[in-house]
Amino acid sequence: VFSMRDASKSFGSTQVLRSISLDVAPGEVVAIIGPSGGGKSTLLRCATTLERIDAGSVAFGDLTVADTSADGTVTYASKERLRQAKSRFGLVFQSYNLFPHMTVMRNVCDAPIAVQRRPRAEVEAQARALLAKMGLAGCEGKVPCQLSGGQQQRASIARALCLNPDILFFDEPTSALDPELTGEVLKVMRQLAVEGMTMIVVTHEMQFAREVATRVVFMDGGAIVEEGTPQQVLGAPTRQRTREFLARYS
Ligand code: ATP
Ligand code: MG
Repeated sequence: VFSMRDASKSFGSTQVLRSISLDVAPGEVVAIIGPSGGGKSTLLRCATTLERIDAGSVAFGDLTVADTSADGTVTYASKERLRQAKSRFGLVFQSYNLFPHMTVMRNVCDAPIAVQRRPRAEVEAQARALLAKMGLAGCEGKVPCQLSGGQQQRASIARALCLNPDILFFDEPTSALDPELTGEVLKVMRQLAVEGMTMIVVTHEMQFAREVATRVVFMDGGAIVEEGTPQQVLGAPTRQRTREFLARYS
């Protein structure tokens, strides 16, 4: 469902991504871990077209978003194809996901109606069902500031899901939350994983990575240093840098 090949990205003279390759198959849950500044958010931003790559390729299924020709020029897809690609994924950030002036219902329904051009009644019915599933029945008419941080994050997940995405990207979805609210959000994500949702999750929650991820990717210095099953990467890391990083969590 998602493929990134040899993707590189620099800001000025600083190379932030170094030839990253990541292929994600349906139903996989990939946890990306690593130290601050390692390039995890940049990887997600490049994957989701918020940021442009300097080399390599990005594709969602058969839809190529960016590709590099033999002479090294990166070409991005047309606006229309980018729009199509954007409706294949959902994105949940650490915080400030929701539009503060819109009700929860409008936050969830806006993109499916405006971007995907789906019928309002159908979208609203789906939104209600998703909000109920996220434990937010009755919150449809509230604005984000009337919700707890955990409720806001679950509303953000409902909004991402309402696009019927093939894959969801999360960038540290719980790092702004206290432990109790973190638990609520991780529970919802765990449920999505059980249901077969394909996800890429940047996280510092090692227990979540261990229990929910099908694959763990350790990133440092803009490169993938090590990847494998949670047992391999978290239980028996082969690289010194991975060991040093994990030592901080035990
Ligand atoms: P954290 O765990 O702290 O969120 P991260 O792994 O997500 O870190 P990134 O945010 O991807 O790391 O940043 C990687 C590097 O790229 C950092 O050195 C950062 O300063 C730099 N960087 C990120 N965005 C930009 C930008 N827009 N302009 C310049 N440099 C940037
Ligand atoms: Mg980050």
